Amino acid sequence: MRCPYCGAPVVFKSADGIYRDNSNNTMLYVCARYPACDAYVRTHPGTTIPVGEMANGQLRELRRTAHRYFDQLHQAGYMSKKEAYRWLAATISATLSQAHIGYLGEYYCRQVIFRSKAFLEARGVCIMNREEMSA
Ligand SMILES: [Zn+2]
Repeated sequence: MRCPYCGAPVVFKSADGIYRDNSNNTMLYVCARYPACDAYVRTHPGTTIPVGEMANGQLRELRRTAHRYFDQLHQAGYMSKKEAYRWLAATISATLSQAHIGYLGEYYCRQVIFRSKAFLEARGVCIMNREEMSA
């Protein structure tokens, strides 16, 4: 496996020293050039299976933002969590088993943010988001 950002080899290792708190003993695939290149992806607990594609800091932040908007769809009570994931699958043209924010690249993160926002605004939900509050 090669880093999709810089082409360096990828190392399988503990998240110690990368995560602020690694009490869950998370394992990561990390770019060999870390921290100069900060691309990594965690694995499913107890396995060597990555949860998605490697991401750099910018993409991780974008996924967090997409997740905050997406979570509001079911937290605001407009759909169940199950329905929200079906909505996500349709939004990113994926199957339900592939419908995870952690799999998304930049384009689909922006789609999820844009469409979640539109959905909530159409229902008059006041969107308070850390990103917007600091902007
Ligand atoms: Zn890299």
